[in-house]
Amino acid sequence: MTWQWPARHLAPAALVDLLDGVAGPSARRHAERCPVCAAELAALAAAREDVTSSGVPDPPAGFWEQLSARESGGVATIRAEAR
Ligand SMILES: [Zn+2]
Repeated sequence: MTWQWPARHLAPAALVDLLDGVAGPSARRHAERCPVCAAELAALAAAREDVTSSGVPDPPAGFWEQLSARESGGVATIRAEAR
């Protein structure tokens, strides 16, 4: 069986799966043989590296809990006003 040029390229989610090492065999084969998807994968890997090495600090302790509580309060207010 000879390999044929794919009718469609990999979806962005499949490219992310490849980067994360959880892609299936058909996606891996496609990326190995398709220069378009290989280029997309390389660009995505470079972008991920830029983001992870950008040095953006983590938020202070309790930030996510406070944000969640604020959102919950906002939703409760909206629901009370709707009644
Ligand atoms: Zn492709």
